[in-house]
Amino acid sequence: MDMDYIDIGVNLLDSSFEEDRDEVIDRAFNSNVQILINTSSSMEDSVRSLNLAKKYPSKIFTTAGIHPHNASTGDNSLKESLTRMLQNDCMVAIGECGLDYFRNLSPKDKQLSVFKTHLEVAKETGLPLFLHQRDAHEDFTNCLNEVLDSPIHGVAHCFTGNIDQMNAYLDMGLYIGITGWICDERRNADLIKAVKHLPLDKVLIETDSPYLIPRSLKNVRRNEPMNLSIIAEKLADEMGIEHSQLANQSVINSKKLFNLSI
Ligand SMILES: [Zn+2]
Repeated sequence: MDMDYIDIGVNLLDSSFEEDRDEVIDRAFNSNVQILINTSSSMEDSVRSLNLAKKYPSKIFTTAGIHPHNASTGDNSLKESLTRMLQNDCMVAIGECGLDYFRNLSPKDKQLSVFKTHLEVAKETGLPLFLHQRDAHEDFTNCLNEVLDSPIHGVAHCFTGNIDQMNAYLDMGLYIGITGWICDERRNADLIKAVKHLPLDKVLIETDSPYLIPRSLKNVRRNEPMNLSIIAEKLADEMGIEHSQLANQSVINSKKLFNLSI
């Protein structure tokens, strides 16, 4: 039997999809990926993402928010504009937001203030957070705990850490988003150990297309949401469960976290 999936993290506005975006989307739907949640990384992006979602009602949903790389673009009206944007039904999460001290493409203090604005909006709207963190674990958890009460409603998107980091997120109430990182034998050792202890009711799957091409795909220039089953299969193997069980449960979890009424 064919299984259904929800890809909770795709970057369909990436320039690599400019030429054939609708075909990529159709290929995903024809590969049993029934729903796509598009990731926005700036306020400009959020508007484009909203327009894309409106073209595919109940099939494409989106986030709204500013990626830490773009934190410099956050202005004084951010809280208001974000809150207004999120009133659209197809906007199901706040983000991707968080902290990235690996590249520091925006200054730290700006990253911190823009992240906190997103957290305040989460507190006021009750919408889930789509979270990004790299090399900033301590500040990241401090910000979350400072603004929000546990359990925190959100997902640690593209989780690539070890079991201690995973458990810290689970303790906060977060869901864990697993990408094709799990398929990369050069750097997946910690993650594989961690997912063996990942509770089934906290797992979400995502391709993060066009990034993170699963390593088994050769001669491919970009990742696509149709490849989600490759990630699901590998993850199910490492968690020691049936592929169908993982697929079903991750769909249930996605619908619950993002309150998808479909
Ligand atoms: Zn990300």
